[in-house]
Amino acid sequence: MLEKDGVPTQDDLASIAPSEERLAKGPVAIIECFQPIPCDPCYDWCKRGAIEKFRDPTDLPQIDYERCNGCSLCVIGCPGLAIFIVDQAYSEKRARVVLPYEFLPLPEEGEVVEALNRKGEKVGRAEVLKVQQTKQKTTLISLLVPQKLAMEVRFFRRGENG
Ligand code: SF4
Ligand code: SF4
Repeated sequence: MLEKDGVPTQDDLASIAPSEERLAKGPVAIIECFQPIPCDPCYDWCKRGAIEKFRDPTDLPQIDYERCNGCSLCVIGCPGLAIFIVDQAYSEKRARVVLPYEFLPLPEEGEVVEALNRKGEKVGRAEVLKVQQTKQKTTLISLLVPQKLAMEVRFFRRGENG
């Protein structure tokens, strides 16, 4: 439960999930922000108007999935590391998941890592597709994961061959 361990419930996740049809179209932001804290920079980072203007800073972000093209700007700008990009159109077998990363050393492109779920549990293996450093402290890590894990994998752990 979110209040106890910071892990959103299935109901929380269902409340923000794009439709299967939208997911199948390609990259889209998944905003896993469920606590009404005073924070709203994701609105300013989105240049496509996909995130609605906040009426109050404690509002939870509302996204128009049809306007979002998965550009990742909001991932860079979110101080809560709460936004991910999921691209289920990457290939038939593998999806691309982009996550914010603020640790060092950075992984290598092509490296196989352990794919972790929101609880930090290993759920499979992932390949690091891209490591994109930004002008902010957040690095974008693109992972390739099995399609069935696209909405599960939200972190990774480096280790020998994942
Ligand atoms: S991924 Fe890009 S288009 Fe989509 S909400 Fe974030 S900033 Fe806007
Ligand atoms: S910037 Fe991140 S933490 Fe802040 S409201 Fe937006 S999604 Fe939530």
